[in-house]
Amino acid sequence: MKAEKSSPRLSYTAPSTESPWSTYLTQIDRVTPYLGRLGRWVETLKHPKRALIVDIPIEMDDGSVRHFEGFRVQHNLSRGPGKGGLRFHPSVTLEETMALAAWMTIKTAAMDLPFGGAKGGVRVDPRTLSRHELEKLTRRYTSEIAIIIGPKRDIPAPDVNTNAQVMAWMMDTYSMHVGFTSTGVVTGKPVHLGGSLGRVKATGRGVYVTGREAAQRLGLELEGARVALQGFGNVGSAAAELFAVAGSKIVAVQDQWGTLITGKGVDVEDLLARHRAGHGIGGSPADDDAFWDVPCDILILAALESQLTAERAQRIKAKLVLEGANGPTLAAADDVLADRGILVVPDILCNAGGVTVSYFEWVQDFSNFFWKESEINARLDTLLVEALRKVWLYGERNSISLRTAAFVVACERILTARQERGLYP
Ligand code: GLU
Repeated sequence: MKAEKSSPRLSYTAPSTESPWSTYLTQIDRVTPYLGRLGRWVETLKHPKRALIVDIPIEMDDGSVRHFEGFRVQHNLSRGPGKGGLRFHPSVTLEETMALAAWMTIKTAAMDLPFGGAKGGVRVDPRTLSRHELEKLTRRYTSEIAIIIGPKRDIPAPDVNTNAQVMAWMMDTYSMHVGFTSTGVVTGKPVHLGGSLGRVKATGRGVYVTGREAAQRLGLELEGARVALQGFGNVGSAAAELFAVAGSKIVAVQDQWGTLITGKGVDVEDLLARHRAGHGIGGSPADDDAFWDVPCDILILAALESQLTAERAQRIKAKLVLEGANGPTLAAADDVLADRGILVVPDILCNAGGVTVSYFEWVQDFSNFFWKESEINARLDTLLVEALRKVWLYGERNSISLRTAAFVVACERILTARQERGLYP
């Protein structure tokens, strides 16, 4: 029996025709003038190394057979194995997966993690599947991409609508293929299967840590700061909890089920409980568009890509934008934000907490030695603060945005590796 689930009201349909891949290409073009002689290799970043399209036939609970389309894109492997999440969403396309894989290449390099960039996706609305169907979909997808993944080749992880259970099924399926238990093939697993403590909330924690550092540089006190949040899933809710602990007031929340705007601030724990019980976040449809006009100090974008258009960027009141999602800001919106003096902590740093703790998980799996949560959180804090510091300095010296600075730092690392390795044959 399928559980009765209500459909979301807001689809986060991209309010623009700009595709994530073209946003990414524009970002690369903006960085090229800063790459000097390494610019010779920049075309590398405009072409995914490898992309696999797979057909996933599933026998449904009612006996019918349905086919789903899935992808795994390895954008760049110059600095190490592919790394990046797996997404289940009705709007997944090859082009979107290419962009998300490319942002992983830039993100792992910006954090100086020894990985390349990859991403996977299946075009499916997982809410319409039973648990059994979801397991079959996950296992068949894993089996189809098993020819290109592996602990030293490409390591998937959770992303939109996937979680530790999905990773457990992937780990088990891959292990059955190779004939032994291979925990390091995915990260974001359940803790007793080789998962890492702190991984579930790591992305939200990273949004908070990078936000805290940026706010400090702006002279913005987190105590009493007004926060507007788009996306109340794994990333947004964990970030909201930490901002609330720091004394910030969550004055607006928007997710697929609606928009809640409240001057007095929401109780994050209450909202989480409502959300978990399947009651959505409440609020009024009239506020869906008003979300972009809400008076606030910090805007956290933790939903999907392509949400902040130039028009919305003109309207927002925040001094600081934190990109918990991948690619939430269009290239034209970046220009508006720069003109208006609004600071953006770009996705490739802001949401890098997830892949950083994935790296810790991968290292723990290889060494079979597991760390305490306090140690993981402390190491995460150190790596994020250091990465942001370097990028900040570079940006200040060259009078460029944090995004462009982070891209330059990352691209220098990737293209230096590319150059040193040389072309084969
Ligand atoms: N899906 C997350 C991201 O977009 C995490 C990827 C990973 O841990 O490999 O960064």
